[in-house]
Amino acid sequence: MSPFGNGLARLCAVAAASSATDMAAQVRSALHQALTIELRLDWLTSDAQRARFLGWLQRTTRARRKLLPRVTFLATCRRKGAGGLFPGDIEAQLFWLIKAREAGCQWCDIEIETLRELPDQSAREYPVPPHVMLSLHDFERTPLLHRAVRTPAHGEVDVVKIAAAAHTIADSIRLLDFARRSNTGRSKTRNCIASPMGEIGLPARILSLREGSALTYAPIANATAPGQVSFHEMKHLYRAHKLDRHTQVYGVIGNPVGHSLSPLLHNSAFVARKQNAVYLPFLVEDLRDFLKAIPEFGIRGFSVTIPHKQNILKHLNRCDALAADIGAVNTVTVARDGSLSGSNTDYVGVLRSLEKKLTLAKSRVLIFGAGGSARAAAFALARAGASVAICARRPAAAKELARAVGGESIPRRALRTETFDAILNSTPIGMHPAAAISPLAASELNCRIVMDLIYRPEQTRLLQLARSKGIATVSGVEMFLAQGIAQYELWMSRRAPESIMRRAILQALRSESQHKQRQPQRARAKKSRSPR
Ligand code: NAP
Repeated sequence: MSPFGNGLARLCAVAAASSATDMAAQVRSALHQALTIELRLDWLTSDAQRARFLGWLQRTTRARRKLLPRVTFLATCRRKGAGGLFPGDIEAQLFWLIKAREAGCQWCDIEIETLRELPDQSAREYPVPPHVMLSLHDFERTPLLHRAVRTPAHGEVDVVKIAAAAHTIADSIRLLDFARRSNTGRSKTRNCIASPMGEIGLPARILSLREGSALTYAPIANATAPGQVSFHEMKHLYRAHKLDRHTQVYGVIGNPVGHSLSPLLHNSAFVARKQNAVYLPFLVEDLRDFLKAIPEFGIRGFSVTIPHKQNILKHLNRCDALAADIGAVNTVTVARDGSLSGSNTDYVGVLRSLEKKLTLAKSRVLIFGAGGSARAAAFALARAGASVAICARRPAAAKELARAVGGESIPRRALRTETFDAILNSTPIGMHPAAAISPLAASELNCRIVMDLIYRPEQTRLLQLARSKGIATVSGVEMFLAQGIAQYELWMSRRAPESIMRRAILQALRSESQHKQRQPQRARAKKSRSPR
């Protein structure tokens, strides 16, 4: 059992703000959601703010003594030299940790750089919170752990935390392995927290609890380490505290991958179907690095996105005929023996979303772009009887794809004069966060229907331009949902909870766009309130 307790107690909500008021607001919010709360006292900008905040905490813990027995507060006042924001010396650091104990904190985090300076390398002489976490940080790389981790004698600290930058998935696995070994007694370090930092380390951080890490961290508001996801997502989307050795792991590989809504799509389905499964975002720079991690993480299947859809082919043991013809794979299933089978559900996605608005047979469709999704669209449309035209910035790529589907390639300059039934954008131009641009000009949209494969934002600049010309539009969301639903059904061999998946995605996209619309209004309101 973790020294923090089991289940939700192992998800640590991090409160980190520059003012006492904001910090207190974060703690109030954390108290509704979490059982373990880290207080980053070093983030407060002055001693006055620290004193104010701890005063508030003391009053709160006293007033709610009966209500709070299960909540653990962990105080951290990390010094600048050790990667924190606290400008003071060790004496000042200990002063604030002692104050934190008086305010009701049961735990404190003391970095190795401080502990080394204390008499006998122990904090037990000082009235700091009774439970001590020793933390080791490496913001540059994942060190050789058996060499780097020299922990003090048993009893001097209650838990050891190692947070290290993961540059590869293999780095993050080494950290998880360290947690696993300490959990099973195969290491001198007992009660270990493994925290791979950075976006590449995110899947390992989510899976760290099932590997035996005593805690995993997630911020209530501001990220305190690179690549963190919010506490809300950690708890509700990834359910990190509920994952165990039986959890089936799925994911999406891509670079970038942070924008992908596939984790929301699939995790919503798993929650609705009460499945012990999780879907994680893997930032993959090097395919081989990820492929080696498949058995370590126990991955059962994964989606493939930019830029790996074509390169993944050479690593597959099997590939269905359609995906092989397309030359791009967006779905991989991992068999029990570890072999990989590739399929392409983008194909189904294009068909399902476009055929609702257009009879494809004998229509003339232009595809802008010649990458992985363009290939799936071109094969789908050509096989449905459409005449396909390809325009891409590399004419050779356009010609090659046009030849493969029996279509024509078209130079960009011809778009002002040519007409089509439909135009599809299959480039990433206009994708979040660079959403203000359109891949094509209004004068190049001479058609009845425009479809953008981009789904974030739901209404891209291209679709807005098309609508302003009275052209019907199809958002990439329709394709995104259809390809994701087909993936779920491939992996699970059962019907997907379609309406739940659709609702989750549309809600997320619409609240993102409302948030964006409100931003300029807020900025204007702030400006008009500010003193002249
Ligand atoms: P990809 O394989 O990397 O292909 C991208 C294509 O866009 C290539 O032809 C590339 O040309 C071209 N391109 C990139 N930047 C360009 C620029 N600045 N100007 C002109 N052309 C440019 O990517 P993909 O997998 O096909 O994905 C493309 C887009 O479709 C992404 O936004 C993706 O999110 C979206 N998508 C959506 C769904 C869905 O379900 N809605 C499914 C799949 C993809 P070069 O080859 O010359 O680089």
